Amino acid sequence: MISELKEQFQSELSQTNLSDEASVEGLRLKYLGKKGLVTDLLKGMGALSAEERPVFGKQVNELKEEVSEAIEHAKEKAASFAMEKKLSVGKMDISLPGEGYKHGSTHPLYNIREEIIDFFANMGFHVDLGRDIETDWYNFEALNTPKDHPSRDMQDTFYLSQNAMLRTHTSGTQIHYMENNKPPIKMIALGHVFRVDADATHAPMFQQCEGLVVDENITFAQLKGTLALFAQKLFGENAKTRFRPSFFPFTEPSAELDVSCVFCSGNGCRKCKGTGWMEIGGCGSVDPAVFENVGIDSEKYTGFAFGFGLDRIAMLRHHIPEISLLTSNDQRFLEQF
Ligand SMILES: [Zn+2]
Repeated sequence: MISELKEQFQSELSQTNLSDEASVEGLRLKYLGKKGLVTDLLKGMGALSAEERPVFGKQVNELKEEVSEAIEHAKEKAASFAMEKKLSVGKMDISLPGEGYKHGSTHPLYNIREEIIDFFANMGFHVDLGRDIETDWYNFEALNTPKDHPSRDMQDTFYLSQNAMLRTHTSGTQIHYMENNKPPIKMIALGHVFRVDADATHAPMFQQCEGLVVDENITFAQLKGTLALFAQKLFGENAKTRFRPSFFPFTEPSAELDVSCVFCSGNGCRKCKGTGWMEIGGCGSVDPAVFENVGIDSEKYTGFAFGFGLDRIAMLRHHIPEISLLTSNDQRFLEQF
């Protein structure tokens, strides 16, 4: 009975299509499954005598092992047939590069910040991040901003107490620096500033960069040259600059810095209201009163200062319509850079 079954299995195995995994599995179930032929043999053991049982059991187990081994072998063959078939169809190109992983991109404000630091550090400027919280002296008083100046209004400034506020500009950092360093001074103050302000082009928090140069014989011409080079660095070699008379409490004379419109290259368009120019910052010669406040001899030294917003530059350069996009953390927006 056992030898007959063994022969039957051998013959069926030889007729099985070994390239077909399903056929091999069918064969396994027929012999070794719960109701398989080999399993059935064991069920008949109850009818045997006590002497016959162990002999029969041993033979059945041997058969079971033999069948299992043969089927395992057949399965391996079937799997390798299947792989060969897949490869021969030619749809798998193992030379194709794998799928790339996304690591994100650097933030446009970060890129501009790095460029600014790079430009001024190369020109010999010290970089100072300053502090977010200033006292009235550093944020206003020392900068020649009188008590009744509109920028001191509660509606513009985030006051923390009567004498402490979130800085409304990075200018206070320059006062700290002048108190601790003697001329010649070449430095930029860089970082976040805070104002009670919010519309399409203004945010309660934005980044500012302000520069300061103090030495003997510093002139307005040097200021113009420095900022003209800087504008070319930010907006390309063809960028032109112009200086419009203006007023700031801490510089005299003061000027607005305009750069040729990035949208129309200075020809005039809707974005620049037909003027061909866009304002990017303010600048001027340091007011002697500021020097007096920090103990620098205003008869001996002159200086210039300038300032601009990083967010505004990012908006101009990348044609970003809303300042809030820069801090909204929307991946669809950030992935464009
Ligand atoms: Zn324009």
